[in-house]
Order: sequence, then structure tokens, then C-alpha cells
Amino acid sequence: MKRLFLKTLVAVMALPMISLAHADDKGLVAVSMPTKSSARWIADGDNMVKALKAEGYATDLQYGDDDIPNQLAQIENMVTKKPKVLVIAAIDGTTLTDVLKKAHDAGVKVIAYDRLIKNSPDVDYYATFDNFKVGVLQAQSIVDKLGLKEGKGPFNIELFGGSPDDNNAYFFYNGAMSVLDPYIKSGKLVVRSKQFGMDKVGTLRWDGAVAQARMDNLLSAYYGNAKLDAVLSPYDGLSIGILSSVKGVGYCTAQQPCPIVSGQDAEVPSVKSILHGEQYSTIFKDTRNLAKVTVAMIDAMMQGKQPEVNDTKTYNNGVKIVPSYLLSPVLVDASNWKPVLVDSGYYKESQLK
Ligand code: BGC
Repeated sequence: MKRLFLKTLVAVMALPMISLAHADDKGLVAVSMPTKSSARWIADGDNMVKALKAEGYATDLQYGDDDIPNQLAQIENMVTKKPKVLVIAAIDGTTLTDVLKKAHDAGVKVIAYDRLIKNSPDVDYYATFDNFKVGVLQAQSIVDKLGLKEGKGPFNIELFGGSPDDNNAYFFYNGAMSVLDPYIKSGKLVVRSKQFGMDKVGTLRWDGAVAQARMDNLLSAYYGNAKLDAVLSPYDGLSIGILSSVKGVGYCTAQQPCPIVSGQDAEVPSVKSILHGEQYSTIFKDTRNLAKVTVAMIDAMMQGKQPEVNDTKTYNNGVKIVPSYLLSPVLVDASNWKPVLVDSGYYKESQLK
């Protein structure tokens, strides 16, 4: 009896110590995110911290304010704290070579998160979505809505790209053009501005105001007497800017509906816009799953195992092909927003109304 009591007492006393020790006993993981100006990255940061804490890691999450030197300084500071792993969604994927060498020399593992880090041998893994497919889905939603497969047309379209210093922007653009090109060649889609290619259509820092200003210019230069039917937009923040611009010249009314505008990230203002019949579609990337995949990679590396990857060909960063795990993006429009965004628990319906 006495022995049992003692045993129980020891067990009970050990309990809080075990759970305390479990809170962050696997060491520090530093997470560098690009900006808080878009809800998507706030969700990424929150989900990463939640998933890491649940697995027993301590975290250091910092946001770079879309300022390249700022993010670099934050990462340099992180390396001095000797984390086990650095998880980075880069503002400019080409500027981290030196700091990552320092990190690797100090034994810190590096994961490129969502955006590929270029020109560095010191990137161990890449966790992201199928970025080419994002572009394919964006373009397909435009093609379907316009009825191009049924032979309708010609229609006028303008093209927007993401930030030229973000590797993803090229994948989105190329994916979209793989779908749009045949219709442009056959004359069923017409780009009146003749502005093609990321050097002409890119939008530095994914800035909605920059996209809005470019749309204003395109409308006044090329659409005096012509109707704009569709706009390829790679990101919701740009789509909202583009829609403001077209509204400014009389679109989005009963007589003159909005052009078909794509998007990405299923951000709340864009989902609301879709529900109001303005933006046409967006792409949902479930950041909860990206966090899960990233934490699984971290755990595997910490146990000296090979993390699970599903792509070892696509993401050449200029120095090496970075082994990657690609998640599937999902197209969202007025027909499926509820099951995809609400029933999955990503948003509450009340947030979207
Ligand atoms: C991400 C997109 C996002 C864009 C702007 C890209 O790197 O993959 O999901 O829309 O950055 O933040």
C-alpha cells in the first residue's frame, strides 16, 4: 500500500515536469515570413507556430515588412540564436546566399517555405504548392467562364504577373500561359496592349496599388471603344486593385458586368467580392497543410531521417534541384466556396458575409 502510494506520488510529481519539458524540448525553429500586409502570410505564421508548438518546438516568428534588408537582418539575428532549423518564405528569393551559408556552417538546416530560395546550395528542402498548377487553374477558370472551349470569342484579356523577385510568379505565369496561349494564337483571346512576359506584366512586391495603376493605364490607352472581357490576375490583392480600376470606368454594373478576374489565396475581401459577383475566382491554398508538411520535414530531419518529398525535378534554384513537397491548390468560385472554405473549417461563414 505504502509503496503504491509512493509510486503514485512520484508519478504525479513528475507529470508537470514532463509536460513542461515537452513544451519546447525539441529545440528552436526560426520562421521568417515576408509580410503582414496580406492575410495569407499571417495565417502561415500562425499555423506554423501552432504546428511547431504542438510537436514540442520553441519558435521565433518574424515578419520582414516586404523589406529585403529587413528580412536579411532578421534572419542573421535568428542564426545567432542557433536554431535547429530556419524556415523562410523569402521576399526576394535571390538575396540570402551569404546568410544561409553562415547558417549551414553552424549546423542549422534550411527549409524554403512556399517560395523557392535561389542561388544557394544551403537549402535543404522546399515545401510549397504546385505553383505551375496554380496558374493552370487560374487560366482554366477564365477559359471555362468565357466559353472558349465551346468556340465562343474573340474576347479581350489583359495579363498580370506577380513580383519578378519571387520565383513563384514565373510558375504562375507560365502555368496560366500554357492554357491561354493556344487561344491567343488562334485569335480567340486578344491582348490589345500586346504586353506579354513577366518583364512587362510583373507587379513588384505583389502590390495591389501598382496593379491598379497599370490597369488604369491599360484601360485609357487600349480600351477607349473596346470592352475588356477578362484579366489574368495571379493574386487576390492585385485582383482587388484591378477591380477598383475597372469600376472607375463604369464596369461592374448591370449594363456592363465586371470582366472575369482570377486571383489567389482566397483572402476574405476577395471571397466577399466573389459572393457579390465581382471577382470571378480565386485559388485556395490550405496553409494548415503547408504547416503540417513543413513540420513533418523538420521532425524527419531532426531524427536523421529523409523527409517525405514528392518532387525532385522541378525546382532548380540555380545551384541545385531542391527536393520538394508540393501540395495541391484548389480553384474556388461562387459554386464551391462553402464546402472548400467553410466546411473545411478554414473560415467561419460569418467572416465571409
Ligand atoms: C505565394 C502566393 C501569394 C503571393 C503574394 C506567392 O509567393 O505563393 O500564394 O499570393 O506570393 O503574397
